[in-house]
Amino acid sequence: MRDFSADHRWLSLNTATVRKQGDLVAIIEACARHGIRAIDPWRDQVAAVGFDRAVRAVRDAGLDLSGYCRGGMFTADAARRIEARDDNRRAVDEAKALGAPCIVLVVGGLPQYSRPGSAASKDIIGARSQVHDAIAEMMEYAQQASMPLAIEPLHPAYAADRACVNTTKQALDLCDRLDPERTGALGVALDVYHIWWDPEVLPQIARAGKDRLLAFHVCDWMVPTKDILNDRGMMGDGVIDIKPLRAAVEAQGFAGYSEIEIFSNDWWGKPMDEVLQTCIARHRTVV
Ligand code: ZN
Repeated sequence: MRDFSADHRWLSLNTATVRKQGDLVAIIEACARHGIRAIDPWRDQVAAVGFDRAVRAVRDAGLDLSGYCRGGMFTADAARRIEARDDNRRAVDEAKALGAPCIVLVVGGLPQYSRPGSAASKDIIGARSQVHDAIAEMMEYAQQASMPLAIEPLHPAYAADRACVNTTKQALDLCDRLDPERTGALGVALDVYHIWWDPEVLPQIARAGKDRLLAFHVCDWMVPTKDILNDRGMMGDGVIDIKPLRAAVEAQGFAGYSEIEIFSNDWWGKPMDEVLQTCIARHRTVV
């Protein structure tokens, strides 16, 4: 396992972590100040500063990307599925221009929650079958652009409104069905927030292997959690034992960035430099 204690060269910042403190250009400038070499930007943050300006800012700062957030939200009634397909194709084009190594997919939950305006549904089995078909379709487009797709399984608490793929096993089953040859076109983004509780997680990481492990996200699980979406903790402040999970992905050969992704009303209230200094310190000690 790599030693992170001496520097933060393998730290990537998911830009949602400081989305309330400044726009993407300000975040990129802050990364330069703190010697952070990589980011994972969100599409809305890119759009807010203008796509060309975002591409230039990333390039001028010499930043790597550890992913692009996000594609997916596939589940919808028939009319809106076309909309979702086209939007995901635009995400592929953007990821390519930005130099991202993969697109992170949050696949969508029950249709009416992931796509407002869609018909009401309680059909989670149907939603999962839509996800299967939509990823198959998106892969055709993404493969032409050589853009890998990284399915992020989300904690079951999000099954209704964000993602009906909830375990590493479920995500890998999709990978095996849709990319049985392990071409590199499809894999998983593993976020400790979503996977830490899963008794199957270590064998499933071993099953994934290097070619399926496309991204690794870190933060912490607070007890109690005050808000299921926006109360993620800074690494070290909660109950997730991060190092064994990082050891497990690295044992498979994962050698990419540890991406810090914290959606937190508390941390959004602090100055950007303070948040980044804390991220760097915790990356060295507890990641
Ligand atoms: Zn994540």
